[in-house]
Amino acid sequence: MMAWLPYSVGCLISYARKQPEINELYEFMDPLCLAWNPKKYKTELLQTDILGLTCYAWNQGYNDRLAAYYKRIRPDGVTIYGGPQVPEDKQARDNWQRDRGAFLDHCIEGPGEIAFVEWLLDKPRSRTVLKELPTPYTDGVFDAMITFAKQNPGNFFGAPVESDRGCPYSCAFCDWGGNTRSKLIKFDQDTFMEQMDWVYSNNELTEAFLSNANFGINKRDIEIMQGIAAMQKKYNRADFQFTFGGLAKNGSKNVKPIMDIMLNEVNVLQHNLKVSFQTHTPEVLRVIKRDNISNEKLMPLVRHWQSIGKQVSAEMIIGLPGETADSWLKGLDHMVHDLSIYQSGTFILQITRNTLLDDPEYQKKYDISTKQVWWGKKQYGVSVVIKSYSFDLEELVKMYDYHWVYNNFINTGLIPVDRLISLYDQTRIFFDNLDQMPLMKDLIERQRTLVRKIFKKGRDVYLTDEKEIRWFSASMRMDDLQIMEANRDRALQELAVVFDIPDDVKFEIEGSGYRKIPVVK
Ligand code: SF4
Repeated sequence: MMAWLPYSVGCLISYARKQPEINELYEFMDPLCLAWNPKKYKTELLQTDILGLTCYAWNQGYNDRLAAYYKRIRPDGVTIYGGPQVPEDKQARDNWQRDRGAFLDHCIEGPGEIAFVEWLLDKPRSRTVLKELPTPYTDGVFDAMITFAKQNPGNFFGAPVESDRGCPYSCAFCDWGGNTRSKLIKFDQDTFMEQMDWVYSNNELTEAFLSNANFGINKRDIEIMQGIAAMQKKYNRADFQFTFGGLAKNGSKNVKPIMDIMLNEVNVLQHNLKVSFQTHTPEVLRVIKRDNISNEKLMPLVRHWQSIGKQVSAEMIIGLPGETADSWLKGLDHMVHDLSIYQSGTFILQITRNTLLDDPEYQKKYDISTKQVWWGKKQYGVSVVIKSYSFDLEELVKMYDYHWVYNNFINTGLIPVDRLISLYDQTRIFFDNLDQMPLMKDLIERQRTLVRKIFKKGRDVYLTDEKEIRWFSASMRMDDLQIMEANRDRALQELAVVFDIPDDVKFEIEGSGYRKIPVVK
C-alpha cells in the first residue's frame, strides 16, 4: 500500500520546532496520516493535549469523526483545525465552527506555519508570509513513518515536495491562486534539493509529487530538474517515480527543456504529458476567470511530444458554469480531431472552500446551486455544482450522456480514432438512435438515474453502492464495458449502427475499469 506523507502537518511541525519559545513549551508527537478507525489511535490520542487536523474537502468527514472521538476520550483536550477547508471569511468561519459543535475548539484559516506558531504562543495573527522552505524530511518529522514502512513490508510512502508556493492565476474553481496565495514565493533552491536528496535516499519512499502550481515559471526550474535527474542517477532508483502537480501555463519557454530532461533522464510515472485545459469553451474560460491562460500556447509543447511519439492527455472539468451539453461535446470533438489528444481525465466540478466558486455573490451572479455528496460511511464528502445559468439538471444529464460515449469508447481506445469520422456528429446520431439499441439504452439509462440521483435539487446524497462510488469518485464508469463484453454480439451489432468498431474489440479494460491517466498537469 502506498500513502502520502502528511507534508502539510510536517511543515507545521518543522517550522514550529525551529522556534526556541515553542520548544520550551511544547513537544510534538509523531504525525498520523492513515485514515484508520479513530479507535485504533486511542493510545496516541489519550496522550495528546492538543489535536491539530489539516482539513481538505475530502478528509473533512474523517477529521470530524476523529476530533469527536478524541473529545469523548479526552474532554480536557484541545482541538484545532487548519488547512484549505477552513473558511477565510470570518462570518462563514464562525458558522462553520459552530456547525461542528463542541468537538472543535479553534480553527486557523490560510497558510498555516506562522499562524500556527502565533496561536501556540498566544500572539496576535501577524499575517506574515513564510519565505523559508519548511524542512520536515531532513528534520526527522517523518522518521517514525519510515520505520513503520520498514517494519511492515509492502507499505510505502509518497513524498509531496515544493520549490515554490502560490499561483499568479485565479481560476474560479481553485484555491491555489486567488487573493491570499497569488504571490509566488520562491524557496531556497539548496534547501529544496536537500529535501529531495532525503526523499530519494529512502527506499521506503517510492514517489515524489512536486506540488508547484506552475513548474517552469522560473528559469531556475530547469536547474532544479537537472538536479532531480542527477539524484535519480545517484541513487539508481528504478522503482522511484516523479510526478508534477502543474506546469507553467501560457507557453513558458522553460517547459520544453524541463520536459526533455524529464523524458530522457527521470523516471516519470508513464511518459505522458498531461495538459490542463478544463474546458475548450471561450465563454466558460471567461466565466471561470481562466481566459488569461491560453490553451493555444500549450500547443507547441503538445505537438513536440506528439512528434516524438509520446502520449499526451488532457485534464477537463465537466459541468463548469457557462458550459452546455453542446459546447461540452464540441470541446471533446475539438480535442480529438483538432488537437489529436485522445485521452482525458475528466473531473466532476466540486466546490473547494475559499474559491470564487464558493463565493455566494459569484454563485448568485451565475445562478449556481450546489449539493453535498457523501460516501464511505460519511467519511468522505464533497460539494458539487448541480446547476448554473447555462445548465439545469436535464442539460447536465445530456452532458454526462455525451461524456459516456467519449469515456467508454475513445478514452479507452476501444474505437480507434482513425475509424472515427466526427465525434460530435456520431455521438449525436448515437443518441438519436438510442431507442433501437436496447443494451446501450439500458446502460445509458442506468447512468442517467445515477446522475439524477447525485445532481437533482434537494438534500445531501449518500452513495453506498460500490459501483456508484467508483463512478463518482474515480472513473465516471460503472461496469458498462464488462456488461458489453458479456453481451458482445449484441453490443457490436448495436454500436455498428453508428461507429466503425473493430470486430476483435475487447470491451474490457484493466481491473475496475479505471484507467489511470495522471502525471503532468
Ligand atoms: S487551476 Fe492552476 S492555474 Fe488556475 S489558480 Fe489553480 S493552480 Fe493556478
